[in-house]
Amino acid sequence: MTTTIPTLPMHIGGEDSVGSAGRFIEAENPATGEVIAQFPAGNADDVDAAVAAARDAFPGWSRIDPMQRARILNQLADIIVENADELAHLDVTDNGSPIREMRNDAFVGAAQLRYYAGLILQLRGHTVPTGQGRLNYSLRQPWGVVARIIPFNHPFMFAASKIAAPLAAGNTVVIKPSEFTSLSALRLGELAKEVLPDGVFNVVTGYGHEAGDALVAHPDIRRLAFIGSAATGRAILRRAAEVSVKHVTLELGGKNPLVVYPDSDIDIALDAATRGMNFTWQGQSCGSTSRLIVHKDIYAEFVDRLGAKLDDLTSGSPASEDTDTGAIVSQAQMDKVLSYIDVGRDEGARLVAGGSCVSADGLDAGRFVRPTLFADVDPASRLAQEEIFGPVLAAMPFEDYDDAIRIANMVEYGLTASIFTRDLDLAHRFAHDVEAGYVWVNDVSRHTPGTAFGGFKNSGLGREEDIEELESYTQSKNVHVNFGGQRRSE
Ligand code: NAD
Repeated sequence: MTTTIPTLPMHIGGEDSVGSAGRFIEAENPATGEVIAQFPAGNADDVDAAVAAARDAFPGWSRIDPMQRARILNQLADIIVENADELAHLDVTDNGSPIREMRNDAFVGAAQLRYYAGLILQLRGHTVPTGQGRLNYSLRQPWGVVARIIPFNHPFMFAASKIAAPLAAGNTVVIKPSEFTSLSALRLGELAKEVLPDGVFNVVTGYGHEAGDALVAHPDIRRLAFIGSAATGRAILRRAAEVSVKHVTLELGGKNPLVVYPDSDIDIALDAATRGMNFTWQGQSCGSTSRLIVHKDIYAEFVDRLGAKLDDLTSGSPASEDTDTGAIVSQAQMDKVLSYIDVGRDEGARLVAGGSCVSADGLDAGRFVRPTLFADVDPASRLAQEEIFGPVLAAMPFEDYDDAIRIANMVEYGLTASIFTRDLDLAHRFAHDVEAGYVWVNDVSRHTPGTAFGGFKNSGLGREEDIEELESYTQSKNVHVNFGGQRRSE
């Protein structure tokens, strides 16, 4: 007996589309290896169609009363909340992360839509003193068609939250989700038809080098925002400039330090070292504090206790409410994680916890790797320098403040950083000196709504999740009015 899998269409101009080439990508459940659905491998023609639909929808969407736009975005948030369970289960089967986290992701997506809906009236220009008989003011105007390219690790959360600012600012959007996790974005496209006018929000699926590249290169897209790896981000920046001038922002990778001082509350710091690694997404999070830098006086005990904590995390079916850590999204990502575990061993780091796949009834067919801790990692080694984007934490000791900050800053990335200490002078000094866009003192992982997130160095360009993101979806126009009839010389 042959079983047919469902085909999920793209959403272009309010219509379902299976793509012009009739080619499909299979969505696979990382926890079971089962193919669960297929969706179109969109190409340049599909991107053209989506951009054309978004361009047609732009005049209407950009001109409606801003408060009406806000109401529509709030309605979309309501729809997401009503369907949160279904959306979360789609992500669980498509991405492999545990249900508790994926449910929360759905709510975060809705919350971001509400946040930007609420900010619409803050998109203000300025007036500039110019003397009697003259008026100079600025306007913030949307770019037109915005492209958003998103990664696999928070499929629905990114699909929903990353359309919020561009839509609130009056742009229309074409989004391309990861080829590994497209199902929930496609479902969002379907649900959004209930409230968004046709063409305002378009979902094109496909491979990065094909649909993604066509979006980056499209001359009618003047604003492009990318979330993904640093290598892809740099390639996109180059490629975008080949075709036209575009405003490009990039949210890229991280290899983030968590520094622990002996005066901190050690139990809280141990919890934070676990939480900060985002094992609940199998470590697949850009903000993960994947370098643990502990003062030499407490290092040995801290590492031993942390290893025991990681051993207690439950690997299991992502659909179970009791699972702490689920399955790795793709075979390529799994191979990468396992290859870095070999690198750690080869470089002489000491394996304290994990380091193996999970072999247990019901999980054998899936891609499960135990939360892994390496200690005594050389700060200059590959294990300490390269982003793994998996459940592998590298621990190393430090001598004094200068040593801690030297180690913290000696990577190409600069996304997040965290310090645990009761010494406020030290904490503020670290916050000032560390090369990172988002710093926690005695905390990790938390994204406080309305605060700017983004990276220094090779971690990116631009900031998101605050008003700066909203403003970045507008371009400024200056208007000079001479209403007094004066000549230039007066
Ligand atoms: P990736 O760079 O492989 O892919 C991201 C997206 O880009 C996908 O949709 C992919 O199809 C597309 N893409 C790939 N090549 C392209 C090309 N040449 N042109 C246009 N699009 C292309 O990243 P990934 O593996 O999906 O995600 C993991 C990475 O994302 C990690 O490095 C992680 O740190 C980063 N990330 C950063 C943030 C942040 O906010 N800074 C958040 C989440 C993930």
